[in-house]
Amino acid sequence: MNLHLTTLSQPVYQQFVSLFGEQFKVDEPLAKYTSARVGGPAELLVVAKTTAELQQAAELAQTHHIPFVILGGGSNVLVADEGVRGLVIFNRTKEIRFRSSGVGVVCTADSGVNLSSLTRQCISKGLGGLEWAIGVPGTVGGAVVGNAGAHGSDMKENLIAATIWEPDKGVRVYAADELQFGYRDSALKREQGKLRPRRVVLSAEIRLRPEPAERLRARADGFTARRKETQPGGATVGSMFKNPENYYAGYLIEAAGLKGFRSGGAHISEKHANFFINDGSATAEDIRALVAEAWHVVREKFGVEMELEVELLGKWKFS
Ligand SMILES: Cc1cc2nc3c(=O)[nH]c(=O)nc-3n(C[C@H](O)[C@H](O)[C@H](O)COP(=O)(O)OP(=O)(O)OC[C@H]3O[C@@H](n4cnc5c(N)ncnc54)[C@H](O)[C@@H]3O)c2cc1C
Repeated sequence: MNLHLTTLSQPVYQQFVSLFGEQFKVDEPLAKYTSARVGGPAELLVVAKTTAELQQAAELAQTHHIPFVILGGGSNVLVADEGVRGLVIFNRTKEIRFRSSGVGVVCTADSGVNLSSLTRQCISKGLGGLEWAIGVPGTVGGAVVGNAGAHGSDMKENLIAATIWEPDKGVRVYAADELQFGYRDSALKREQGKLRPRRVVLSAEIRLRPEPAERLRARADGFTARRKETQPGGATVGSMFKNPENYYAGYLIEAAGLKGFRSGGAHISEKHANFFINDGSATAEDIRALVAEAWHVVREKFGVEMELEVELLGKWKFS
């Protein structure tokens, strides 16, 4: 590892330092940036506070052939214990603007905006549409990439367009339907693991409609109560597997007898079997062992091959 000591030349290192100052870090432990609280260091990390910085960091990495990845809330990724090669760009962009349009209100949010906080802000302004997102951890950018959703709705239902930086092409506004959304999926998510650098969501335009704040709040409170009732707390990545067609992943894992199954400092939740919990001392490998166990036992018992909802980042023992 240690790209910065071996392959990152001094001038390039200096460029990062002069552009990002204290927002540039070397060998930065990533566990604290992720909701599962596991994972080794990023060789290089830049904290981007504006969309200009987000774009600049990606461009600099691309120019110097440094692999890079964006980290939003880190709530849909598992970072390997060995860490991540290249540059992690931690997205802390936070601007939000509202404007009236013919049929309602359009919110333009930087991709680093926290989705749940944005939802609360919309509710207090009497703007509806995002209530499903209350309690969904992470950023607007992460939600666009993974087409986050809950309670029968998802990002695709709200998104008008996204402003995206694309390697070699620059910045362009993509209409929502160009992003080919599917269940917890998009064209952007499908770029993961491919050799070419991935596109970066800079901001998103979200469609909202005026509705009395009390009504929106009541709806959101209902969703929060349901979440508390059905999901465990603690350090997790949320649902580990996507629901296979005609099944719930949680039901399959539970029916396979794996509730409470342990690996090191991690276990499969007793409350919701698609949630894998870090008890405090888990390694990423402990959680991956649970993933492997659940996948194999479910396939053996039910013939269903579950697909990960979560993305594995970094260098894993099997990769
Ligand atoms: C307790 C809990 C409950 C959850 N409940 C739900 C739920 O109800 N519904 C749901 O859909 N999800 C849920 N999740 C999963 C997670 O919250 C969502 O997937 C969320 O949208 C991820 O956003 P993030 O910013 O954390 O993304 P990250 O985990 O940081 O990143 C996910 C992927 O998106 C990429 N990415 C992030 N930002 C950008 C960007 N700006 N440009 C390009 N690529 C980017 C990353 O590189 C990575 O590949 C839950 C998670 C937890 C921990």
